[in-house]
Amino acid sequence: MLNLVLFGPPGAGKGTQSEKLLEKYGLIHLSTGDILRGEMKAETELGLKAKSLIEAGNLVPDEVVIGMIDNKISENLNAKGFIFDGFPRTQAQAEALDKVLEEKGTGVSVMLSLEVAEEELVNRLLERGKYSGRADDANEETIKNRISVYNKETSVLVDYYSAQSKHVGIYGVGTIDEIFEKLSNAIDSIQVG
Ligand code: AMP
Repeated sequence: MLNLVLFGPPGAGKGTQSEKLLEKYGLIHLSTGDILRGEMKAETELGLKAKSLIEAGNLVPDEVVIGMIDNKISENLNAKGFIFDGFPRTQAQAEALDKVLEEKGTGVSVMLSLEVAEEELVNRLLERGKYSGRADDANEETIKNRISVYNKETSVLVDYYSAQSKHVGIYGVGTIDEIFEKLSNAIDSIQVG
């Protein structure tokens, strides 16, 4: 299986690039943010519980997202592989992902980390907030909180995957196609290598 962790702070372009990558490589897109927004929209118990955390830009508990990902992987064992977008976001989530994949006889192939400066992220998210309809894109305070949560809880995963020699940093500023080409090159080099 080809299992990609598409990593980076909020606004780095993970969602946009995931769409293109899944088409090119025939992978299944697992975005915990999308799944949670679906639950919120459907007003499920989980969605209602997660709503206030998401709207404030805080993380939902590890066991919630780990359970969601575990189910989705189990439902798609015949897939060519997965793109994990917005997951893992904590060390506990990364360890759980390794365990779940190992149980299925596979593992993370590479972590592609999109690197974008903080000021650019805030501008992109404010711009996206004009049309995304996402409460967490709507004001600068929430956006800054999301970036600070990323810096405190999520960015450590660069070290986690570096220790496994799986981290590849990709400069995430440029046109969508330019960044896509860099991501594709990185994936192709691990596939042949
Ligand atoms: P995203 O669409 O990836 O920006 O996620 C939107 C929001 O959903 C985040 O700010 C969190 O509140 C929540 N969320 C998404 N993925 C995770 C995750 N892996 N762990 C915890 N919370 C998450």
